[in-house]
Amino acid sequence: VVGVLAIQGSFALHVQSLRRCGVEAREVRKPANLEGLRGLVVPGGESTVIALLTQKYGLTQPLCERARAGLPVFGTCAGAILLGRGEERPERWSLVDVEVERNAYGTQIESFCADVKLAPFREPFHCVFIRAPKFHVAGEAPGVEVLGRCGQDPVLLRSRNFLLAAFHPELTADLRVHQLFLEQCGVSTAAEMSAQSGGM
Ligand code: GLN
Repeated sequence: VVGVLAIQGSFALHVQSLRRCGVEAREVRKPANLEGLRGLVVPGGESTVIALLTQKYGLTQPLCERARAGLPVFGTCAGAILLGRGEERPERWSLVDVEVERNAYGTQIESFCADVKLAPFREPFHCVFIRAPKFHVAGEAPGVEVLGRCGQDPVLLRSRNFLLAAFHPELTADLRVHQLFLEQCGVSTAAEMSAQSGGM
């Protein structure tokens, strides 16, 4: 079972994407929902609201504890803002040692799409950036693997058990980024399972 933090924002589409990958997805709204998860998605939305309500529902501490203990966590956009660090509001969970600057491309009307070459995939990925953040990765930041850049800006990165995307992979039909995260969770996806059973 892979969880999706379902407080505010784009959680329903992440649940759909995960189910389309052939895995069981669970909406997470209270601490008990964290039990037995193999991974957790923290979706995009409004990071100040997600931070506030996650705290109010008593989820911040157990979520951060599990993440520090190695639970794979995929943060997209507002989710990545929360997982990273930064001085501006909201107060960050600082689980990943990368500075994440909010709204770094400007306001809503500066939102954009771009076909981006991501290291794990042969074909470009259609990335949707909505009031997207920027990841500030200093030089050869130890332990941070930049998996793709849009221009100069890192837009997908991995650090230990964390995957961070500045864009919204759940808004496209392309499941490759979710599948990449599921690999990180050690969960086999439907595509892999049918490949494995292909010879039977
Ligand atoms: N700009 C939003 C924030 O700061 C994030 C936008 C998004 O998740 N698409 O929370």
